[in-house]
Amino acid sequence: PQQKVAELPLLSEREQHQLLREWNRTQFEYPKQLCLHQLFEQQVEKTPDAVAAVFDSEELTYSELNAKANQLAHHLVSLGVGPEVLVAICAERSTDMLVGLLAILKAGGAYVPLDPIYPPERLAYILEDSCARVLLTQQAVADKLPDFKGRVVYLDSDLPVSQSSSNPNSNVCPENLAYAIYTSGSTGRPKGVQICHRAVVNFLSSMADQPGIVPEDVLVAVTTITFDIAALELFLPLSTGARVVLTPDLMVDGGQSTAALATSSATVMQGTPATWRTLMQVGFVGNPQLKILCGGEALSRELATQLLERADTLWNMYGPTETTIWSAVSQVQAGSGSVSIGQAIANTEFYILDTNNQPVPVGVAGELHIGGDGLARGYLNRPELTAEKFIPDPFGEAGSRLYKTGDLVRYKTDGNIEYIGRIDYQVKVRGFRIELPEIEALLSQHATVQQAVVIAKEIAGDKRLVAYLVPQAEATPEIGELRSFLKQQLPEYMVPSYFVVLESLPLTPNGKVDRKALPDPEHTRVEAEAYVAPRNEVERILSSVWQEVLNLEKVGVNDNFFELGGHSLLVIQVHSKLNNKLLGINRDISVVDLFKYPTISTLAQYFGQKQDVNAPTRQKINDRASKQIEALKRQPLIKQRKKING
Ligand code: AMP
Repeated sequence: PQQKVAELPLLSEREQHQLLREWNRTQFEYPKQLCLHQLFEQQVEKTPDAVAAVFDSEELTYSELNAKANQLAHHLVSLGVGPEVLVAICAERSTDMLVGLLAILKAGGAYVPLDPIYPPERLAYILEDSCARVLLTQQAVADKLPDFKGRVVYLDSDLPVSQSSSNPNSNVCPENLAYAIYTSGSTGRPKGVQICHRAVVNFLSSMADQPGIVPEDVLVAVTTITFDIAALELFLPLSTGARVVLTPDLMVDGGQSTAALATSSATVMQGTPATWRTLMQVGFVGNPQLKILCGGEALSRELATQLLERADTLWNMYGPTETTIWSAVSQVQAGSGSVSIGQAIANTEFYILDTNNQPVPVGVAGELHIGGDGLARGYLNRPELTAEKFIPDPFGEAGSRLYKTGDLVRYKTDGNIEYIGRIDYQVKVRGFRIELPEIEALLSQHATVQQAVVIAKEIAGDKRLVAYLVPQAEATPEIGELRSFLKQQLPEYMVPSYFVVLESLPLTPNGKVDRKALPDPEHTRVEAEAYVAPRNEVERILSSVWQEVLNLEKVGVNDNFFELGGHSLLVIQVHSKLNNKLLGINRDISVVDLFKYPTISTLAQYFGQKQDVNAPTRQKINDRASKQIEALKRQPLIKQRKKING
C-alpha cells in the first residue's frame, strides 16, 4: 500500500534507534510483587522505634503509626472494604489523615482524596462519580460535607481500639488500585485518574534512587492530599525509614511556621513554583542541607537561581497525574538558559511524536507521549476519554500503551528534554491544573451568559484567570452573581479573577475565537463599588497593603479583595505584611479572617472588636512551630548527605 508523505519516517534508522531505544533505557529493578503499604510495613520491621511522622506536638514511631493504621484497617475490612473498593477521605492535615490513608491501603481499598475547602457540590459529584462506599472524615469537617449514602467513619472519634493491631491480610495485589485522584475535566466535570499499587511502588523506588532519600532525612510535607505529589511527601519517607513532618494547611498558618520549619529542620521538601515563591515571601531562607524538589509547573531560571541559593540541591520534577506523580526528574545546576525537565524516571519511556505519531528529530517540537510502569489504568467511568488519551504503543510490546500528555517538548542534543508549553486549553495557575473549558462550560450554563471564554493571563507578574462573556440578548450579567454561581461548583483557584463583558468575541479568519485578540482586563479597580477613601489609621494601613499586593493605584474601603483580582496566595502575602505592620498596635489576624472579611471596612471593624483581645492564634501557631523545630533540633543532625547525583 502507498504511504502518505506525512506518515514517512522523518529519521534515519540510527536516529530512530537513539530516540526510541537508547534514550529510553530506563530498566531498573524494583519490588514488583509488593503493594504501597507493604513498603511501609517492611520498614516498620526494620525500624519500629524510629520516629515516622510528626504533626504539631504529636510524634508517632513506625510501630505506633502501623498499629493505629492496622486497627482502622481491620475496622474498614469489617465494613466491606477490600481490593478495588474506593474509600473517600476528607480530613484536615493531621496524623489522623495519615493513619486514614494507610488504613485504606492496608484494608486493600483505594483512596479518593477530597479537600474540605472544596464547595459541597464538587464534593458531592466526586463522591457520587467514584461510587465511594466509605468516607473517612473528622467531626470538625463533617458539617462541610454533602449528604453521603455510604458509611461515614470519623478518624478522630471512631478509632477502633478493640481491633487487632497486626497487619491485615487483604489479598490486594500490585495490579489493584491504590488511589483515584480527581483533576479538572474539559467537559465541565472533574475526572478520576486511577493509579495502581505497582505504579506507585515503581515511582517510589525510582525517587529513592534519584533525587534520593536516606533514613536520617526529615521531609517537611506541605501539599494537600488532593494533589498526587503529596504521595511522595508521605510515602517516600515512610518507605525508607526517614521522617515526615506534616505542616498545617498554608491557608491556616499563613505559611510562616512552614517557612520556619523548612528553614530550620527540613532536609527534603517539595513544592510547586507557586508554593516556593509564597514561602520565600513569608520568610523561608532555606538551609545548606536542604534538597528542594520543585515541580508541577515550568521552573523558570529566575526561580531556580533563588532556590539554589537556599538549598544544597534543587531538582526539577515533571509529570502528569496520569503517569503517577513525576515521570522525569533532573538536578538543576546554576547557570543560565531554560531549565530542562531532564529524562524519564525508572521503567518509563518517553516518545516525542508529531501528529502522525512519528518520532520527531532532536530539536524539533512534538507532543510528549509516556509509556511504562507508571501509566494509570485510565479515567474512572470514562472509557472514551481513556481511549483518546491512552493509545496503543506503536513502539512497545503488544498490549502496551502510551499516555498523550498534551505537553509540547523537544529533545536537546544531550538527550535531556525541554518543556515548551501545552497544545490544548489546560493551564496551571498557582500549581493547580485547570481545564479552561470546564469553567467555560459552567459559565455558559448561567442564564445571563450566551458565550464564555476563559484564559490564563500574566497580570502584574502573576498568572490570573480572565473570563470573557457575551451576554444573552437583553440580559446583564452581574459579576458578583457569576462569581458566587461558579463558587458553588468550583474550587477557589478555578474562579476567574476578572470578568470582562464583550458584545462579541474576536474571531480568527477561519471563525474560531481569537484568544490572542482578547483585550486586557482593566488594570485599575473595577468600579463595582463607589470609591470610599480610608477613614482612619487601620483602614489606611489595610488599603496601602492591598494596593501593594494587588498592584493597584487605589483601593476603596468597600471594595472586595477577591473582586479586585485577589486570590489565596495573595491573601498569604497580605497576612504577612499586615502582621508586620500591625504588630505595633497589638492586634492579631489570621488568614481565615482575611477570607471572612474581604473588604477593608469589614476587616477594620473586626479589628476594632478584636482590639486588646490578647489571644492571638498566630502566636499559638508560631509557638507550636518553634516547639516542633526545637524537638527536631534535638534529634541527631545529619552529618553527611549522601550525594547520589554529582
Ligand atoms: P498534574 O497532573 O497536576 O501533575 O499536571 C501535569 C501537567 O503539569 C503536565 O502535563 C505539565 O503540563 C505540567 N507540569 C508538571 N510539571 C512540570 C514541570 N516541571 N515543568 C513544566 N510543566 C510541568
